[in-house]
Amino acid sequence: MAVSELQLRDALDSLKGTGVRITPQRHAILEYLVGAMSHPTADEIYKALEGKFPNMSVATVYNNLRVFREVGLVKELTYGDSSSRFDFVTTDHYHAICEDCGKIVDFHYPGLDEVEHLASHVTGFKVNNHRMEVYGTCRDCEAKAGAH
Ligand SMILES: [Zn+2]
Ligand SMILES: [Zn+2]
Repeated sequence: MAVSELQLRDALDSLKGTGVRITPQRHAILEYLVGAMSHPTADEIYKALEGKFPNMSVATVYNNLRVFREVGLVKELTYGDSSSRFDFVTTDHYHAICEDCGKIVDFHYPGLDEVEHLASHVTGFKVNNHRMEVYGTCRDCEAKAGAH
């Protein structure tokens, strides 16, 4: 069984555990998220699934994503505009973001716990979470730029 199938099964199990009803739409959205490494927006998910669910709206997709977020299955990455991106939560990871095309690529790095401790110490905050991103030019965009 492929890793993504196992992840999907785990995700469905944990949804069941939290009492969230698994509708065909929710199943399809989760399946899409698990398979997509692209951190899709609600709109992208909607476009990918509208053929299968003609009565589904972007708002429905968004509401379902919010349900997943509340039970901790997905993370919502907001970038100050209206297009939040959604990330299926596997393990903690960080993001490299292409400044040219907006692509987000995952990478793993030991959790920056020390930063949280220090931040908490310095600011007196009870620190819950952090987000780290690096910015640059992805390989595709670099190759395109090089071809000119
Ligand atoms: Zn790029
Ligand atoms: Zn990610």
